[in-house]
Amino acid sequence: MNNAFPPWVPPRVAIAGSDQVFPARRIWCVGQNYASHVLEMGNDPTRDPPFFFAKPPDALTSGGFVPYPPATADLHHEVELVVALGPGAEIFGYAVGLDLTRRDLQAAAKAKGRPWTLGKGFDFAAPISPIARVSDVGHPRAGRIWLAVDGVVRQDGDLAQMTWSVEELLAQLARYVTLQAGDLVFTGTPAGVGPLLPGARLAGGVTGIGEIAVQIGPTGSVPAPSR
Ligand code: MN
Repeated sequence: MNNAFPPWVPPRVAIAGSDQVFPARRIWCVGQNYASHVLEMGNDPTRDPPFFFAKPPDALTSGGFVPYPPATADLHHEVELVVALGPGAEIFGYAVGLDLTRRDLQAAAKAKGRPWTLGKGFDFAAPISPIARVSDVGHPRAGRIWLAVDGVVRQDGDLAQMTWSVEELLAQLARYVTLQAGDLVFTGTPAGVGPLLPGARLAGGVTGIGEIAVQIGPTGSVPAPSR
């Protein structure tokens, strides 16, 4: 049987220092994994089991330009360590990601006990840096994670502040789904999340892993192909 139309091609993420690319599969995200961010969201920072949500894989973008998304007046940044899984669901590498969030839609969903899907999942909702291979960077479990907007540092934390470790998160997630090569896991954000306006320039990073730079464009603007 022939496809009725060309099949969707999974997004691919650059691998630092390599000619190969990382074929992405699913995007798993963890909610509230740094006590400082739990507090700023008005929640109890006790060590409840981690909770997960997902973004559609084609939310990934490695381009430096993200259109301001539709249907929101409160786009927020969340800088996160991203775990990239390879064959056997072993950790292949790490990247710096932005869990962009339509906070007003998320808050409205929360208030009604509805899913966060449209608050978290939209086109270009998951900018990501090149993936640093474990063979190059090991498994950093401490180090600065930061994000500046228009040159002003807004988020400034340390991987050591994560409530649930990378290993614990993967073990918890694996209770619910069979993790697969290509899966990406966004591991939560430190305090300092806040709104973005069209034109904002974001620069962030995780020490020992990499950096990311993104500019927010006008609503409905079209980025140059970058995938
Ligand atoms: Mn997040």
